[in-house]
Amino acid sequence: MIEEVKIYPRCPDEWEWRHSKDGLYSTSIAYEMLTKDERGLVETKFFKRVWNPILPSKIAAFNWKVMMDRIPTKLNLFKRGVIKDMEDGKCTLCEVEDEDINHLFLNCNVARWLWMACANWWGITIKLDKECRKTFENFGTWTKQLSIREG
Ligand SMILES: [Zn+2]
Repeated sequence: MIEEVKIYPRCPDEWEWRHSKDGLYSTSIAYEMLTKDERGLVETKFFKRVWNPILPSKIAAFNWKVMMDRIPTKLNLFKRGVIKDMEDGKCTLCEVEDEDINHLFLNCNVARWLWMACANWWGITIKLDKECRKTFENFGTWTKQLSIREG
């Protein structure tokens, strides 16, 4: 990588971003670069769904944290040394199972009850997977039902 660097003795050092023609950083180019990566079409589709521009940014950021398992669940707090004993790692909602991301949002009886209550309220049928990411991939069928209902 260092071999690629050209040194011009009479020019002052400056930052340059390789992905734009003018060398200046641009969030729109960065977004384009990340979402048009040919190596990961599935990831790109997933990424676009998470960072959907119609969502408020704080909702999208929260979704992203859930999908990347970056929520401070008790298991994550244990992994980071915040909780010293997994005996203190029981789910905040049911106090029965260990609290990891999939349990907290999907597999906990309290969470499942909440999801089903929301589905009843919205008048739609939902499919909950055991994993957050797989359930998130089903959100499209949920929103289709809602948009059909609204006409
Ligand atoms: Zn629970």
